[in-house]
Amino acid sequence: MLLARFPRVSLAHLPTPLEHLPRLSKHLGGPDIYVKRDDCTGLGTGGNKTRKLEFLMADALKHNADVIITQGAVQSNHARQTAAAACKLGMACELVFEKRVADATEAYKTSGNVLLDRMFGAKISEVEKGSDMDAAMNAIAADLRKQGKTPYIVPGGGSNPIGALGYVDCALECQYQANRDGIAIDHIIHATGSAGTQAGLIVGLKASHANIPLLGIGVNAPKDAQEEKVYKLAVATAEYVGAPGVVSREDVVANCDYVGPGYGLPTEGMNEAVLLLARLEGLLFDPVYSGKGLAGMIDLIKNGFFTGAKNIVFIHTGGSAGLFGYSDILQTET
Ligand SMILES: *Cc1c(COP(=O)(O)O)cnc(C)c1O
Repeated sequence: MLLARFPRVSLAHLPTPLEHLPRLSKHLGGPDIYVKRDDCTGLGTGGNKTRKLEFLMADALKHNADVIITQGAVQSNHARQTAAAACKLGMACELVFEKRVADATEAYKTSGNVLLDRMFGAKISEVEKGSDMDAAMNAIAADLRKQGKTPYIVPGGGSNPIGALGYVDCALECQYQANRDGIAIDHIIHATGSAGTQAGLIVGLKASHANIPLLGIGVNAPKDAQEEKVYKLAVATAEYVGAPGVVSREDVVANCDYVGPGYGLPTEGMNEAVLLLARLEGLLFDPVYSGKGLAGMIDLIKNGFFTGAKNIVFIHTGGSAGLFGYSDILQTET
């Protein structure tokens, strides 16, 4: 596997640090917990989509694109990082938002990621929950072509084999750091949504024979649907990167017990986890993805799921800009 064969633009601060969380580890009394700081990728407050965009935006440049179109929920971290990437590369950006969260507050609709999208000059349109997002993006693309523009569509979450290359790379980067620092990783955990992060990580781990199990904590779909989505993308990514057949169905494990009432809706566990990490380690997570991932990891540690493991790594996929869209929660007194 040689990622250097694929077009790539530099957008992220890499490598991201792999840090020990001594106070959280002690507090939970389980394995030593490390955090892979992909919240520190640096582009427009960072996050996991920036690694994907290094490959996706290079593909857009190859196609002479002058407008990037993508989609997500209103507080999409992916949309925000895409808007920032478009600015950095001198392209326009159009975002289609699905009103996926019911009864949204004023902060949700205007602050956090939305504020940053507007600062990056992205053009925003909104569609109802359950709309065909690909159709909505295609309609905008057709319109732009009529105006003589060259649009390029980045799929939701940047999750296709091109974007997933970013997380193939992250799997290799993690192993390099673990080898350098002498950290025998027993398990890697992260929040999984549109599937590109988990698919890329699995391909990178399997193709390099790392022998590290990977657990995605779901934030949206039920377990079967989530695992199937990740598996399909992992198979396609393995082929695309030149390592066909490295992923089997049982390599794909998602735990979707921590979604709560639905995508983007707060849970008690997420609340507690986000505040715990803030107060124990001075680290910021987010209500939609990394906070629910953390809640899952913490609960699984308490329930003995990682018994026997010495070192586990939580990949911090970012999203703290979204906190400002949820300023009505998380302000409890100690
Ligand atoms: C998008 C996102 C994820 C999920 O990554 P996918 O590749 O979509 O599965 C996790 N955390 C944050 C903060 C995100 O923005």
